[in-house]
Amino acid sequence: MKLKAGGNALKEPVDHTPQRSAHPHPTSHVWQSAQRWRLTEAQRRTVYLWVCALAAATQFVAALVILMMDASTPLWWPVVGGGLCLAAWILLWSRRLPWQWVDSGLLLTASVLVTTQIATHKGPLPADMLFGCVFLLLAAFSILPLKLAFGYMAGLLTVVGAELIIHGGPYALFWNLVLAGLLTAHLCTFGRNISLERAEATILERLANTDALTGLENRRAMMSRVHLAWPDTLGAALLLVDLDRFKRINDQLGHDVGDQVLRDVADRLAQVVGAQGWVGRWGGEEFLILIPGGQDSRRVAAELVESVRAQALSGGVRVTVSVGGATNAEVGSREDWVRLADARLYAAKEGGRDRVEWMQPADLEWSGDQVG
Ligand code: GH3
Ligand code: MG
Ligand code: MG
Repeated sequence: MKLKAGGNALKEPVDHTPQRSAHPHPTSHVWQSAQRWRLTEAQRRTVYLWVCALAAATQFVAALVILMMDASTPLWWPVVGGGLCLAAWILLWSRRLPWQWVDSGLLLTASVLVTTQIATHKGPLPADMLFGCVFLLLAAFSILPLKLAFGYMAGLLTVVGAELIIHGGPYALFWNLVLAGLLTAHLCTFGRNISLERAEATILERLANTDALTGLENRRAMMSRVHLAWPDTLGAALLLVDLDRFKRINDQLGHDVGDQVLRDVADRLAQVVGAQGWVGRWGGEEFLILIPGGQDSRRVAAELVESVRAQALSGGVRVTVSVGGATNAEVGSREDWVRLADARLYAAKEGGRDRVEWMQPADLEWSGDQVG
């Protein structure tokens, strides 16, 4: 029997280097860790509630200590501070305001309080007030949008600078405060940009290499894998899998059911292949599987066909697949490797479908160079 290969030849290699992974859909480890540590809105609210409660309690205890020890510190500072934290807690708890508003509200009030302290202070500014300003700058850059944070920094430094000019105080510390502000701004913008760029690059790379319907790697990503696997001296194998009579499913059950069948088959293939290789969507209702050398690709191929046939998919739909296999040891080029798998897939269809085909290249009408 002479059979012809279809249009599945391998095109240009692509410029990205996928990592070997035991998982059939590799994802960045850094990305996964970042997701694990990211708090949900609900968790952030809970953390915020605790912070507000603790801050309020601390302020009221401080007020009590001032009252009992008759210290020179004005009593109204901790009382107002405690009241504010309590108000923030109540607002958060009653869900009257989004926590971001409470955040910005607290920064505003703390700024007003510190500015009042600075303005009402007689004589040279003490160092601890300047340290307080550093924390306000840090808070501003973590809460406010960048432009506002810079405006805030300029405003705060102007107030403190004016106070230092009028009443004197530790000028050296003031310059450190300016430096701290600039450094914070720099780190916030620089750090934020870097992490954003990294996240965007990861997302873009994943989007470019992922098939939207099945979540498997797409043809572009699989072509890269094929190019990388080509020199495998242990005999890597390609398995080209095609759903049998898939058009009928679309025609009889609708396109949506067809899509679901593709997703289910993709899951099943990925399940069977597991850590033994990679599964990608080659196009339409075709999947390409790459099995690196050292694995029993004939067994894997047989298991794939059996596994799809054995159990109905969701909605009770039953399908079968045909598979054409080829190893890199049988051909003279990467392009012929895919062509041979394609020619054998065609032979599997001609031979009655629901099967794997490893027919000798000499029996196929196949234009590639046979090796060995
Ligand atoms: P064979 O056994 O010879 O492979 O027959 P077949 O019906 O599977 O093959 P054919 O190539 O005639 O039909 C493939 C169909 O797959 C045609 C196309 O509409 C459908 N198809 C391709 N991509 C998608 C998709 O993303 N979703 C759905 N629902 N159908 C798709
Ligand atoms: Mg088909
Ligand atoms: Mg097809």
